[in-house]
Amino acid sequence: MGYDIERFVGYVNEGLLCSICRDVLEDPLQAPCEHAFCTACIHGWLVHHSNCPEDRQVIDVSLLRPLYRYMKNDLNRLQLHCRNREYGCEMVCSLESIDRHERECEYSQIPCSNAGCTVQIERRNLDGHLAVCEYRSRECPNGCGFTILSAEDTQHNCVAELRTELELLRSEMICRVEEAKHEMESRLDSQRRHMVQKESILQNEIEELKSQMSRMMSDVRSLMAAERQHRQELEQAELEKQEL
Ligand SMILES: [Zn+2]
Ligand SMILES: [Zn+2]
Ligand SMILES: [Zn+2]
Ligand SMILES: [Zn+2]
Ligand SMILES: [Zn+2]
Repeated sequence: MGYDIERFVGYVNEGLLCSICRDVLEDPLQAPCEHAFCTACIHGWLVHHSNCPEDRQVIDVSLLRPLYRYMKNDLNRLQLHCRNREYGCEMVCSLESIDRHERECEYSQIPCSNAGCTVQIERRNLDGHLAVCEYRSRECPNGCGFTILSAEDTQHNCVAELRTELELLRSEMICRVEEAKHEMESRLDSQRRHMVQKESILQNEIEELKSQMSRMMSDVRSLMAAERQHRQELEQAELEKQEL
């Protein structure tokens, strides 16, 4: 959609009007037949048509070009009123600079800058609104450290706020302690399992040593018996020698 022709000061050349919306060209494009349109208007038109709305010549989006420079200059030099004229803005400036003005216009409606506030207000009245906005906030004057929204000012109770905070901290702490306990228990558990394993290995080794020991003992006993036998035989032989 173009700029409402009512906003312009003085005569506007017919050639600077959009053939579709009949307003002054906004963001213009030109067809090969030299008819000009607002970008939004001609793109909308070409969704369902494939010709120039003025002379029915066949066109499509790829054939659209920027406006001739001299026309663009004429367009940019047109003088028009700020769109906030009905709210009191008396600014008249060139089409080229109207966007910049309107972005900063004191009469533009802007949202309140406080989070949560849905008020829309003229830029020039924002400071006044901020002073009374229900969503403005301040530090508690009693030093509890909380920020109080203006809307909740009378309900603010330092003790209650601090108690809630304390409860929160307490339950958080309990949670943490529980977690630490679980962690510790599971670590102890795994250590215990480890010890049990070690113990059974040691037990096996002891059993093994015991059986080795008893084998050695029986070997020693049989060696000693053989030795005794041997000695008796020697003594016997000695006796027989003397008798001879
Ligand atoms: Zn248009
Ligand atoms: Zn045309
Ligand atoms: Zn303005
Ligand atoms: Zn507000
Ligand atoms: Zn407080």
